[in-house]
Amino acid sequence: MKLTDSVYLVGGSAYGLSAPGDCNVYLIDCGVESVLIDAGAGLGVKRILANVKADGFDPRAVKTAVLTHCHFDHIGGAQELKQLTGCKLVAHKCDSGSITSLDERVLVDMAKTRGIIFKAPSLDLVLEDHDHLDVGETHLNVIHTPGHTPGCISIGMTEKDGKKAIFTGDIASTTGRLGFINGPGFDLSAWKASLKLLISECPDRIYPGHGTFMLSGATEDLNLTDLKMNSPWTTIVTSVG
Ligand SMILES: [Zn+2]
Ligand SMILES: [Zn+2]
Repeated sequence: MKLTDSVYLVGGSAYGLSAPGDCNVYLIDCGVESVLIDAGAGLGVKRILANVKADGFDPRAVKTAVLTHCHFDHIGGAQELKQLTGCKLVAHKCDSGSITSLDERVLVDMAKTRGIIFKAPSLDLVLEDHDHLDVGETHLNVIHTPGHTPGCISIGMTEKDGKKAIFTGDIASTTGRLGFINGPGFDLSAWKASLKLLISECPDRIYPGHGTFMLSGATEDLNLTDLKMNSPWTTIVTSVG
């Protein structure tokens, strides 16, 4: 599903585009190559690739899949995706150990209760804050935004129409709903700081890991989330995404 000239939504259970349990999966059109943001939970990989094809892209041109963090709904499909496309799997160093060992931070037990079982992905590149990924004509900026997990990353880019976009994973949604639980890897103060960092980037658009995206006015929306997070009382505990 085309969202802009640069970005397509190719997976996500919320839109009925792939399988139950899948986070939003985005494709960035980088010219001769494409990048996927996240891989879903594992049951929807073939549908994701069918969507890639239906949107006019060759699945074999998917050279990179960025895993925004270690939760199962973002990494479960990664290894199969790699096998079917030959893409490189990349993630931040603070989540890389969890991803390759499927430790408690991945929330594997939660996945099992939903009938989702998958193999640990092998990573091809481990990222750090401020790294750049140059894919085709496109420059992607790695922004370390911990809090939801220690190795959460957001990916910034300038789209073909000049608008500034950030793929926020699960660190910021467009509704202020946050997947925060008192579980392994969550850190509320780090989360608040990450949100302020995203606001300082002044994005026009954000593409979160769950729910809807925002194609204009994203910074104002992030400011509302920031207000909510820092109000004296608020409900931030929702389902984990
Ligand atoms: Zn998550
Ligand atoms: Zn998620």
